[in-house]
Amino acid sequence: MGLLSSGGWQKSGVYHLSADAVPADLFFYQGPGSDTLYVGSVAAQDTAVQLRLPLVLRKNLLGHYVCPKCHKSDKTVTIVNSEAPLVRRTITGTDTTYSSIIGRKLYEGCISGGARAHCQRDNIRF
Ligand SMILES: [Zn+2]
Repeated sequence: MGLLSSGGWQKSGVYHLSADAVPADLFFYQGPGSDTLYVGSVAAQDTAVQLRLPLVLRKNLLGHYVCPKCHKSDKTVTIVNSEAPLVRRTITGTDTTYSSIIGRKLYEGCISGGARAHCQRDNIRF
């Protein structure tokens, strides 16, 4: 369990982020098997950083999660944990790609990693 950034991570207590790593996104690492959750970011002009743990998630009027990084909901998908995850196959010319994102849902295995949603723009979980 600890905080994670491009500057590394520390288990507990005081977290040191080197100045040349800023701006940086901050993630919360809960341990093996868990998702690495986005919890905030540090900008160059910040003298203090406030993190809310656990992160309070917001939804828009349509029930889609609002990304805590880009503050938009158009690229967020809700993570669904099911025993038989669905996969979407897309064939473009001769290339076949598989995606577990179908509509506004991301299908994963039956074990939850703790994340509730995913932002396709920022490629983060929260
Ligand atoms: Zn986003």
